Parts: sequence; structure tokens; C-alpha cells
Amino acid sequence: MSPTPETPEAPFRAGTVAVLGRPNVGKSTLVNALVGAKVSIVSPRPQTTRHRLLGIATFEAGQLLLVDTPGIHREQKRAMNRMMNRAARGAVEGVDAAALVIEAGRWTEEDGLAYAALHSAGVPVVLVVNKVDKLADKTALLPFIAQITHEREFASVHPVSAMKSKGLDALVKDLIFLMPESAPHYGEDEITDRSERFLAGELVREQLMLRLGEELPYSTTVEIEKFEEDGELLRIAAVVWVEREGQKPIVIGKGGERLKAISTGARVGMEKLFGRKVFLETWCKVREGWSDDEAALRRFGYSD
Ligand code: GDP
Ligand code: MG
Repeated sequence: MSPTPETPEAPFRAGTVAVLGRPNVGKSTLVNALVGAKVSIVSPRPQTTRHRLLGIATFEAGQLLLVDTPGIHREQKRAMNRMMNRAARGAVEGVDAAALVIEAGRWTEEDGLAYAALHSAGVPVVLVVNKVDKLADKTALLPFIAQITHEREFASVHPVSAMKSKGLDALVKDLIFLMPESAPHYGEDEITDRSERFLAGELVREQLMLRLGEELPYSTTVEIEKFEEDGELLRIAAVVWVEREGQKPIVIGKGGERLKAISTGARVGMEKLFGRKVFLETWCKVREGWSDDEAALRRFGYSD
């Protein structure tokens, strides 16, 4: 008997995918779902993501380096927004593909501009139609997609729910197919290019986005002052910076309750992500005008 012929193995592929789209369409949720861990913070508010971050997702057939970006912002007034825009635009340089994320049932002028920019840069664009779980009328999905893809060129189109991890296997397969043949760039168990210290600060910031009303989260940032290993324990100290003295009592809350809730929420997220016990201390301090001060921004970890 002759031995069964071996099927030739597909070569391993690895490369970079820029995840782009309007604020709040679910870019960070998608990156987390593909990576399988919360490397990028998520909130119902626009402009939650302020930093460019790599989510690393390794599969049998390949490795995707997913560049999560702040959305492009129209308001250019503050230095922080200008830096966020530069970070988002710069994300397309040198990537192997782009995932343009939109919301099912909504195609806006901004989506059209993002598509046009990617198309003229010559990057293959995969259209990710997210939040299909929210569509009341599922029969509207196909005509919606037909309308968008008419006269536009996409490498492929994927209706997904990033939140419910639906439709992601086919998306992953197509994205890997667009990557060059290459050995993995990162180890199998690496999930991001950012340090645990950075991720700790982001998890505190996520709580600010979730727990502060109105405009206040946009006037805050977080600095990790201490990040120390103490046996099995991580000892972390975080400062929540606000822009004005009057904002401090709002962050702290009656009897310190809000800052306590922020700290507890962040600690729970850190313990889950780092897989160990965390002792977290959180303070609130004032630095006037930090969001329009490039030197302060760099000290707080912002870059473009
Ligand atoms: P980004 O600004 O594009 O990074 O968007 P986020 O990932 O921060 O998500 C914005 C909001 O949309 C959050 O409240 C998410 O929970 C929500 N969201 C993201 N993906 C989905 C999805 O597939 N379905 C639903 N219903 N909500 C989603
Ligand atoms: Mg985001």
C-alpha cells in the first residue's frame, strides 16, 4: 500500500493590518475579539482610544498585527486631537491591509473619505460591517452591503458582531490571506506591543470614560507613578490628572465614592488581564491645561 500523500502545508503568513473607521464603530472591540484579551479599552463614548496600539493575534495559519487607532477627529483645536489625528493617519503607512470598520446600516460621508484615502494609498481594504447584532431588520443587510460595494473595490466584505464574536473566523481567514509569507513577528503568547504599565493606565482611563458624565473624561488623563512587582502581587499607583481644581471633587465624588469605584473597576480589569493580584492606589491631581500642552502630553505617554 502506498502511503497517503501529504497535503502540502500552506505557508505561514504574518503582517500588519490597520484597523480604521469613524469613532465608536467598534474598532477596539474588534481588535480585542481577534486577540482574545482586552488590550484596547472600549466605551460607549467616542474618542476612547487615544493611542496607537498593536494587538497581536496568532492563529495556526498566520499572525495578524492589528493596529488600533484613534478615529480621525474633526476638531483640531487641542494639541491632543491633532496628535490623535496624526497617529490615525500614520497608521496606514507600511501596512499589508486595512480593515475599514463601519456600522451596519450606516454609511456616512466620513466612511466614504476613509475608503477613498485607503484606496488611493493602494492598500487592500477589507470592509468590516460591524454591529450586525443591533440591526432590527436583518433583511436590510444585503441590500445595504450591495449599495456600498457597488462601484467600490474591497478585497472582501464581512458582516460581523465584534461584541458577540460572530463572523470573525471568515474575517481572520481573509486577512491572513492578504499577509505576506513570513515567520511570526512576535511570540505566540504575546498579545500587544505595549507594556503592562501602559495597559494599567489605560484600564484606569476606561473607568473614567465609563463613570464620568459629559465632557469631563476628555479633560482627564492617567499617569502610572508606580508599577512594582512584590512577589505574586503587583503594586500600582495611578494619578488621574484633571485640568482644573473644580474638576477634582467630581472625579473624587461624595465621600470619595466615585474614585473608589474607578479604582476598583480598574483593578478588576488589571487582575484579569495580568492574571495576578493587584494592589492599586489612585489619586486625583490638577495640572492646568495639560491637554493643550505638548510637553505634558509626552510625559503622559501621548505620541504621534
Ligand atoms: P471604537 O471607537 O471604534 O474603538 O469603538 P469601541 O470598540 O470603543 O466601541 C464603541 C461602542 O460600541 C462600545 O460601547 C462597544 O461596546 C460597542 N460595540 C462594539 N462592537 C459592537 C458590536 O458588535 N455590537 C454592538 N451592539 N455594540 C458594539
Ligand atoms: Mg477605539
